Amino acid sequence: MPLLHSWVASANHGDSPFPLNNLPYGVFSTAHSDPRCGVAIGQMILDLQACEEAGLIDLGAGPVFDVPFWNELMEQGPEAWGDLRNRLLELLGQGSTDQSRLEGFMVAQSDACMHLPFLVSEYTDFYAGRHHATNVGTMFRGAENALPPNWLHLPIGYNGRASSVVVSGSDIRRPWGQLKGPDDTLPRFAPSACFDLELELGAIVGTDSFGPVTLDEADQMIFGYVLLNDWSARDIQAWEYQPLGPFQAKATATSISPWIITKAALEPFRCDTPARDFELLPHLRDTGPMLYDIDLEVTLAPQGKVGSTIARTNYREMYYSSAQQLAHHSTSGCPMTAGDLLGSGTISGPEKHQRGALLELSWGGKEPITLDTGESRSFLEDGDTLTLSGAAQGDGFTIGFGDCSGTILPALKDPYAR
Ligand code: MN
Repeated sequence: MPLLHSWVASANHGDSPFPLNNLPYGVFSTAHSDPRCGVAIGQMILDLQACEEAGLIDLGAGPVFDVPFWNELMEQGPEAWGDLRNRLLELLGQGSTDQSRLEGFMVAQSDACMHLPFLVSEYTDFYAGRHHATNVGTMFRGAENALPPNWLHLPIGYNGRASSVVVSGSDIRRPWGQLKGPDDTLPRFAPSACFDLELELGAIVGTDSFGPVTLDEADQMIFGYVLLNDWSARDIQAWEYQPLGPFQAKATATSISPWIITKAALEPFRCDTPARDFELLPHLRDTGPMLYDIDLEVTLAPQGKVGSTIARTNYREMYYSSAQQLAHHSTSGCPMTAGDLLGSGTISGPEKHQRGALLELSWGGKEPITLDTGESRSFLEDGDTLTLSGAAQGDGFTIGFGDCSGTILPALKDPYAR
């Protein structure tokens, strides 16, 4: 598929993150308007609330853009998702007969403030990257016990907190927590000294389910994807995680990028999961290419300084796809709902520079990394700005993800001061 041309000139470049091929969905506000749904095209945003009010978009089952979140469209199901995409391709394509009316509903991205694009109903995070799980397992339990015995048979996950999810650009306050380092005889309560990122992709479930769903049904339920940073306090995690998994270590915040990249836009980039040591049980067995070829990058900028790229990897390194995670999630009969967010798990590749967390990059702090500024890092310092970016590279076009950033604020002096 080639670059699709739009009458919005800034969209017609091979390196534009938001060409007509992409059409990512967000929620924005300006100095003159409250938060509302919009679609990015080139350097602009088309105001979909205004389009719907003007009768340019009518999906047939009542308004969906009278609210500042995408859940109402999601709940109408995959047919409506396809209808909207087709209508937007028509409206924004070169030669559109509605160009002059639409020009009045365009806002420059530089004038917009982005908000969470959907109401997050629930949040589950997985541990589905083999390189990450092997690295972390080796550090926490030794090389012989790196991968737990279940790891190659099911995607391990834990129930996170929907309330922790924030949009890119939100500041992240270093948490306090209960810690017990190797030199401590008793635990103590202190600010985390090992605050970290996790580079992940978030899958957004778009329709409800009651009871187990097949892998193909699970794939059809996914509305789209965002970049996701699962901020992690490693010192809190190391002390609290056994036997029920992470709790407060992961509850401070989870940042997501502001634009939902639809499954339709990513369709040309599907690729296979890696070779498997064990054939998966039938309900989890791949039914086709289940991953996507998406280049990913992590940059770290110390306060007031230029950023350094600290990792480059690709989503195709994952062992389990989002559809496999969703299918597994539903096996018990667990109801899934529109707005459910599923974190992929940290995306690391086999090489050292492909690791998606500082825990792995600095090998638990034993091998600090050196930034372009000459400074070193084992974990995040106050004032650091961390940015995840991602793009799928097509033949003459790019499907960009909006950046996912957050700046670390110092821990409160006294978290119980009133
Ligand atoms: Mn995670």
